[in-house]
Amino acid sequence: MSSILLPEPNPEIIARRDAIIADLISIVGAEAVVSDEDGRRAFETDGLTAYRKMPLAVVLPQSTEEVSAVLRYCHRNGIKVVARGAGTSLCGGALPAEDSIVVGVSKMNKVLEIDYENRVAVVQTGITNLAISNAVSKECFFYAPDPSSQLACTLAGNLAMNSGGAHCLKYGVTTNNVLGLKMVLIDGEIVEIGGPYLDSPGYDLLGLIIGSEGQFGIVTEATVRILRAAEQARPMLMGFESTEAAGACVSAIIGSGIIPVAIEYMDKPAIEVCEAFAKAGYPLDVEALLIVEVEGSNEEIEDLLARIVKIAEPFKPRTVKVSSSPAESAKIWKGRKSAFGAIGRISEYYCMDGTIPLKQLPHVLTRISEICGSHGLKVANIFHAGDGNLHPLILYNANDPVEVEKAEKAGAEILKLCVEVGGCLTGEHGVGIEKRDLMRHQFSETDLLVQMRIKSVFDPEWLLNPAKVFPLAERIMLDKAA
Ligand SMILES: Cc1cc2nc3c(=O)[nH]c(=O)nc-3n(C[C@H](O)[C@H](O)[C@H](O)COP(=O)(O)OP(=O)(O)OC[C@H]3O[C@@H](n4cnc5c(N)ncnc54)[C@H](O)[C@@H]3O)c2cc1C
Repeated sequence: MSSILLPEPNPEIIARRDAIIADLISIVGAEAVVSDEDGRRAFETDGLTAYRKMPLAVVLPQSTEEVSAVLRYCHRNGIKVVARGAGTSLCGGALPAEDSIVVGVSKMNKVLEIDYENRVAVVQTGITNLAISNAVSKECFFYAPDPSSQLACTLAGNLAMNSGGAHCLKYGVTTNNVLGLKMVLIDGEIVEIGGPYLDSPGYDLLGLIIGSEGQFGIVTEATVRILRAAEQARPMLMGFESTEAAGACVSAIIGSGIIPVAIEYMDKPAIEVCEAFAKAGYPLDVEALLIVEVEGSNEEIEDLLARIVKIAEPFKPRTVKVSSSPAESAKIWKGRKSAFGAIGRISEYYCMDGTIPLKQLPHVLTRISEICGSHGLKVANIFHAGDGNLHPLILYNANDPVEVEKAEKAGAEILKLCVEVGGCLTGEHGVGIEKRDLMRHQFSETDLLVQMRIKSVFDPEWLLNPAKVFPLAERIMLDKAA
């Protein structure tokens, strides 16, 4: 957060700024180009607000063809491009470079087709995540991946980060819910990958592109799965006397073969803050809280909840409370989904995102407290426990450079711990600029080289979303290996 190594901007591109803006205006029209300082400032950072860089200009195209024309121009002129959805990335994924232009897809937000019989929808990627579910809810359908930022974040960003959410335990993350894409390559070529069918012959390019963090092309349209909503869903709150007991209970539930729709975890600091914010009825006399949601018919729900309560018995939950009404369920989820905002009211926080094998949960939770304590920092834990996807929020004072450095160190130690116990550096937020240099702890030199060669196939000059995902030194290594 304090210092991040970015390559020096190309002075020739900076010097040509006025001419570049004039060219962009001639391609997409003045109303689609943001070039004044105040306008550009809105795009200088993302959800990881610690890093800021002013782009040369921002372009907001309205069609795939416009995106294509802009990329063709940038490619011919060696101009870097950073794709952007809503800018809610928490890893600096949408951070511009000073010699780049930002291409934002937020105006491309239409639903193009809904096919209930085949359970697919075709949408432009600037649509917000929640708007997809809203578009099909009248027929009792929904789009499953549900990041807490779903009101604001776009499908474009979700595709780039392979985003997840509380209900992805049962339904899978973005990659499991997308069947096809339309993508513009850096030279302006438009490619279609996959379609409204289960599998495509040849390489799984869809799998490659989803999660590629805006480094392969700009995705403008997607064919997504829509699912029939269950008859009912019901959350249950289970409070425990220790984080270890709650962690062990999560492992036991999943180990039993039951897959709830969601198992979310909050520790005491998080419970207190979220309860104060949402009045969700969370118990305040426990060290850890699980929100376990199941769905189905009334009988199925009763049966599943009874089985889960039985599984939890050896871990001695102090509270077991099943939601008694849709209004109560909505409050329980409001508390969870507004957790980051609620914590943000009391302190700045550095949100980590790592994934671990479930059986390591009790050990890792203990180590997270120890790591943060050793730096004199507090931590609140809120995460998708069923997936082993952790989100420790390290609380720190952003105006104190010493605390900033400590928070960075603690964050890096936590992510390295995730790798050490057999997990990985990111669950759903991506690598971006934040975890770029930690990639060495996850991958060998050869692994990184292979991944970088794939990037070079799509983007030989490395113009798309520069300085993200791979440590900069490895980029030099790739040049040598070429
Ligand atoms: C309060 C809060 C809660 C959050 N909760 C969750 C959560 O529960 N789960 C989760 O997974 N994430 C969560 N996030 C992180 C964030 O919302 C997701 O990463 C989201 O997918 C980003 O979408 P966006 O539209 O804001 O994308 P941006 O931030 O604009 O961009 C994200 C990445 O996508 C790339 N990109 C954007 N558009 C395109 C395109 N058209 N083609 C190719 N690449 C593109 C960008 O270059 C960048 O690398 C949360 C963030 C906040 C602030």
